[in-house]
Amino acid sequence: MATTDNNSKRLVDRFGRHVSYARLSVTDRCDFRCVYCMSEDMTFLPRAQVLTLEEIYTLARTFTELGVTKLRLTGGEPLVRRNILWLVREIGKLPGLGELVLTTNGSQLDRLAEPLSDAGVKRINLSLDSLHEGRFRTITRVGDLNKVLRGIEAARAAGFKRLKLNTVILKNRNEDEILDLVNYVVERGMDISFIEEMPLGLVDDHNRALTFYSSDQVRRDIETRYRLVPTTETTGGPARYFQVADTDSRVGFISPHSHNFCESCNRVRVTVQGNLLLCLGQEHSVDLRHVLRANPGDDARLRQAIIDSMAIKPEGHDFDLNRQVVIMRHMSVTGG
Ligand code: SAM
Ligand code: SF4
Repeated sequence: MATTDNNSKRLVDRFGRHVSYARLSVTDRCDFRCVYCMSEDMTFLPRAQVLTLEEIYTLARTFTELGVTKLRLTGGEPLVRRNILWLVREIGKLPGLGELVLTTNGSQLDRLAEPLSDAGVKRINLSLDSLHEGRFRTITRVGDLNKVLRGIEAARAAGFKRLKLNTVILKNRNEDEILDLVNYVVERGMDISFIEEMPLGLVDDHNRALTFYSSDQVRRDIETRYRLVPTTETTGGPARYFQVADTDSRVGFISPHSHNFCESCNRVRVTVQGNLLLCLGQEHSVDLRHVLRANPGDDARLRQAIIDSMAIKPEGHDFDLNRQVVIMRHMSVTGG
């Protein structure tokens, strides 16, 4: 059986992969409705199905006790969850946690960047798909670009290092902004990752097979102006990183359609309902909310459930663009 290693401190799966990174979704709600992520008219989860902040904290603590050193808070939009700063502060104090990081759409950062830094968030990834106000609104359906840009400046002023943009490129929507977005990060010493759209959840806006714009194409576009130098850096995920020559910035390409990264996968995800997902592209999961609520205060049960989950972590994913939905979960539930 796949278990922890000899000192019971590490999560190791059947393929010898060590899980050191957990991404926790803290809400399925969001103040945006990005066209690739949600439908215009989303139904959000009833409160009883959503983990409480205390339950999320218990999960975070248990993961770190099992040797997880990096935690990412995501969503939905993590910063719209009420009392999120309490959770960030508590998780920030966990011994054994190397890095607490956050993924956000930036809409609340102008007011929260500084308290997040004070509470122990080390790095922030920010989603930004367009630098044109009207187009930004079309892609997010409701977002205000200027507020997000102010949020980015607030994060820089709060001292966040290596701020990174996450950009989803859709053909005929924003592929003509690739170079402008790279210029934007280069001017600010930030990084950027370009993400291929993944078939997660039903979206009503477009046919994903028609909007697909490959990472290889993005790379070719960037190389019309910049020289990209491969780096050996890996986060154990689907990203490949390049240094933009003669600048402080790096460009990453997140290509989930390639299988190349699965063998080094070091991560698990927990949905806001407490489902422990062993692979973003497969349905294998364990209901940790049930474990938490059926055994209140019983840390040993929770630890064992997480250890046992290693036995069902799949070898790899199976995305297929020609099927409009492969995985019924929206990214906002999974945590991106
Ligand atoms: N609301 C936050 C944000 O937008 O950064 C955090 C959650 S969001 C689900 C995390 C990331 O997932 C974002 O960078 C978003 O662009 C990306 N994302 C959402 N749906 C996606 C999809 N179908 N394919 C690829 N990336 C997606
Ligand atoms: Fe909200 Fe992030 Fe999804 Fe956009 S990508 S709708 S900001 S959760």
